Parts: sequence; C-alpha cells; structure tokens
Amino acid sequence: SECLFCAIASGDIPADVVLSDDDLVAFRDITPQAPVHVLVIPRAHHANAADLANADPRLSGALLRAAGVVAAQEGIAESGYRIVTNTGEGAGQSVHHIHFHVLGGRDLAWPPG
Ligand code: AMP
Repeated sequence: SECLFCAIASGDIPADVVLSDDDLVAFRDITPQAPVHVLVIPRAHHANAADLANADPRLSGALLRAAGVVAAQEGIAESGYRIVTNTGEGAGQSVHHIHFHVLGGRDLAWPPG
C-alpha cells in the first residue's frame, strides 16, 4: 500500500501508539500542534469522514468513541479538547486516510484558521 496511515495501522511504519483495538489505532502526531495531539484512524482505508460514514456507520461511531477515550487517557477531557477532521486540499488534508485529530492541553482559538 502507498497509504502512510495504512502502513502505520499495519505496523509497517512505527508510531507512538496510545490506543489500539481490532477497529482502530490512535497515535501521537509527528508534528504536534498542541501539548496533546493524537490521531485516531480506522485500520480500514477510507479517504475521509463522509466516505467512512457512508461505508461503515458503526466504525464511524467507534472512531468517535475512541477520540473520547484518548482525551480521557491524556487528561484533557475536563479541561477541554477539539476533535478535527480535515477533508480535501482546501481544508489542509494531507493524508487521504480518515483521521480524527484530538487536540488539547492548551487554550484553543475559535474559529480555527
Ligand atoms: P491532515 O493534514 O489533516 O491530513 O493531517 C495529517 C497529519 O498527519 C499531520 O498533522 C501530520 O503531522 C501527521 N503525520 C504525518 N506523518 C506522520 C507520521 N509518520 N506519524 C504521525 N503523524 C504523522
């Protein structure tokens, strides 16, 4: 596979994994934009959130639930955090395998840029 996140999900490319199960993997972003910056990805390849939701609503829910578990594990559930998923070049999506960014550990500006 030429997909970077498929390679991380399979273990072919190493990552700092914080949560993993049969459906998904969560790992620290290599260029963190906040003290906590974790990416949550399904093991199955789907390009973006809409594709995932159409193809596998159960897996969409599992990913969202995992984002909350990561936030609790990382100690940012109370202070506040953001779940972000970029879709398309104009939104800054650089890896075309759906991922939820879980960001926290500092004040987050709104609206985002
Ligand atoms: P996006 O730009 O929304 O598609 O997000 C892709 C994210 O993947 C960026 O925040 C990158 O820093 C992150 N990233 C790219 N390569 C790696 C890697 N090998 N391990 C962890 N995170 C990565």
